Amino acid sequence: MRDVLEQAVALGKTHTHEGAVATYIPELGKVDGSQLGVSVFCRNGKRISVGDTKVRFSIQSISKIITLAVALEICGFDQVFKKVGMEPTGDPFNSLMKLENTDSSPYNPMINAGAIVVASCLASEISFDTMLDTIRALCMDPDINLDKKVYHSEMSHISRNRAIAYLLESKGYIEKNKDVENSLHFYVKMCSLSVTAESLAGLGLILANDGIHPDTGKRLLSSQAVKIVKTLMFTCGMYDGSGEFAVRVGIPSKSGVGGGILSVVDGEMGIGIFGPALDKKGNSVAGECVLEYMSHELHLHMFDPQRHTL
Ligand code: GLU
Repeated sequence: MRDVLEQAVALGKTHTHEGAVATYIPELGKVDGSQLGVSVFCRNGKRISVGDTKVRFSIQSISKIITLAVALEICGFDQVFKKVGMEPTGDPFNSLMKLENTDSSPYNPMINAGAIVVASCLASEISFDTMLDTIRALCMDPDINLDKKVYHSEMSHISRNRAIAYLLESKGYIEKNKDVENSLHFYVKMCSLSVTAESLAGLGLILANDGIHPDTGKRLLSSQAVKIVKTLMFTCGMYDGSGEFAVRVGIPSKSGVGGGILSVVDGEMGIGIFGPALDKKGNSVAGECVLEYMSHELHLHMFDPQRHTL
């Protein structure tokens, strides 16, 4: 498999110049857009990393799957999905359009509006420090921390997300007794965690293995939470590019504007990617290219007739 990963990274590298790092959070604009790395953690214990897989970067929207999984555990299915839907939007991740123009709750927990609602459910139930411990265990990475520079950079350019949060409150999706600012801070802290491609592969492996750590046999997430998270990753995880990505790659994935992509080949492996040059939708250009190549060469597409489970 290593040779396929090396070929995928070499191919991806030829595309990094087609994208650009996110600059709307100024701290992210300082990152070198030519970096690229991919890590694969398999259920059979094999771990392969190629390229820039130990570089720390900002998890950004990939944290939305962790927030959702933990909220499902702590608050429960009914509480969470009373406030947020399960449908793709086809709109950019930070859009206010459907929130303002329809009577519907935020369409899904993978867009900012939905994730802020989920954060509001969780923020009063769990401290950020406890959350951090959970995240370190889920990602098999004890060194994950809050990147304070990214956090402050994002908080000083938060107008759009703050507008979303107060619109949510005005429509009753954030309860009056919940502190809107507190929910917003919790959301941004989650986005400002600093991870590596290897940490994402670790979390991907836990999700691929039904929430169980394959080395210890310990269950870290319930089957139900894992099933829901993977389904929403497949339908909504790659912003408004999720449909085309499902056709071309066919692996449940979640991307973030820090350049990460976390992918789950169910029953088989977790894949973590770092490639900070983004396309117009916010997805890593080289990362998508790496995944499409891997999916084709290793038959990882969910509906590939040659896909096998280890
Ligand atoms: N913290 C970012 C925001 O709210 C997350 C964006 C993303 O990675 O999709 O704008």
